[in-house]
Amino acid sequence: MNIHEYQAKELLKDFGVPVPEGAVAATPDEARAIAESLGGPVVVKAQVHAGGRGKAGGIKLAGDPDEAEKVASEILGMRLVTAQSGAEGKLVRKVLVERATQIERELYAAVVLDRTRECLTVMASPEGGMEIEEVARTHPERIFTTHVLPGAQLWPFQGRGLMLACGLDARTAARAAAVLKSMVALAWEKEATLVEVNPLVVDSSGQLVALDAKMNFDDSALFRHPEIAALADPEEADPLEREAAAMGLNYVRLGGNVGTMVNGAGLAMATMDVIKMAGAEPANFLDVGGGASEEMITKGFEIILSDPNVKAILINIFGGILRCDVLARGVVAAAGRLEVSLPMVVRLEGTNVEEGRRILAESGLKFDVAASMAEAAAKIARLVGGK
Ligand code: GDP
Ligand code: MN
Repeated sequence: MNIHEYQAKELLKDFGVPVPEGAVAATPDEARAIAESLGGPVVVKAQVHAGGRGKAGGIKLAGDPDEAEKVASEILGMRLVTAQSGAEGKLVRKVLVERATQIERELYAAVVLDRTRECLTVMASPEGGMEIEEVARTHPERIFTTHVLPGAQLWPFQGRGLMLACGLDARTAARAAAVLKSMVALAWEKEATLVEVNPLVVDSSGQLVALDAKMNFDDSALFRHPEIAALADPEEADPLEREAAAMGLNYVRLGGNVGTMVNGAGLAMATMDVIKMAGAEPANFLDVGGGASEEMITKGFEIILSDPNVKAILINIFGGILRCDVLARGVVAAAGRLEVSLPMVVRLEGTNVEEGRRILAESGLKFDVAASMAEAAAKIARLVGGK
């Protein structure tokens, strides 16, 4: 689960990390009032669950309350299209108004759950402000890392080592190490999978300030942290994923153009793999459940068809709990009722499979029945112009 920058900064503050003074506003009037109470120049920042806001015009400096009101009215209500937002962008509903910081130096700092090493990895780079993926591509030697075993703290020598490597003087490095230590403590205590501060700034008086903050939490651990779960913003979820969740479907939107409908999560994941191996890209993960009733299949079609990227649909169903003939009738009825015009490849296996395939073949609908998963993937890849 992701949270907003202003929420992440509250958490950092609770763990002793210095953040700029500020407050969140939903209207230009509120932004003005915050700027008045802060006094002096402020920065107005779009609050959306996507990074890269600065380059996209979602972050603006304002010299006085008049200007803060003006830039807030420009940012609020805009659809921010950033490198991480997807083409449709993110509607800005809130802005964070903060006292502007005089930046001396911008660093990158992050704590990430390292699933391979089974520990936390702490990363720091002198290339702050830039996207870390870009630094990793162009200057991998400018990223320094250290590891923290489960439950352990980040020792001061580890944090200082990273920050000295980033080129800070000894005194500033010790302050920055304290920030890293707090970030690690936060990650353990709240079961975060990512605590990123980019940039971590050295200001004109040599103090460390977390100028930006991004956090991600382990969904499976949220039941232990109701205060974190309460920070969820359902408005930020993908609209299709929200709709699917309301229908009781296990749906995750992906970037490709092959819509998929599968019964069972394991089979659904295997289906993603074979599509990729055939040279095409899945548009979604969709598990319609082991039972896969006609009603669930209809809902599944509705969600898949709402994604304009989908060019063809792969239906991969194993008739176990429900027999294949029953499933095939469900698929035919749902596709017929919704007048699905996209090409569909169906792979059906299990009890009464012959009867199921016959029902599909004789339905008069555009089903291409595949005998195996590999064949289904090859057919779908051909349909969307893959390999
Ligand atoms: P992001 O683009 O979504 O990562 O948003 P950030 O909060 O990281 O802001 C992007 C950039 O805006 C930062 O790297 C800074 O260079 C600049 N910025 C943000 N806040 C301030 C501020 O208070 N003062 C100054 N001078 N620059 C700021
Ligand atoms: Mn940033």
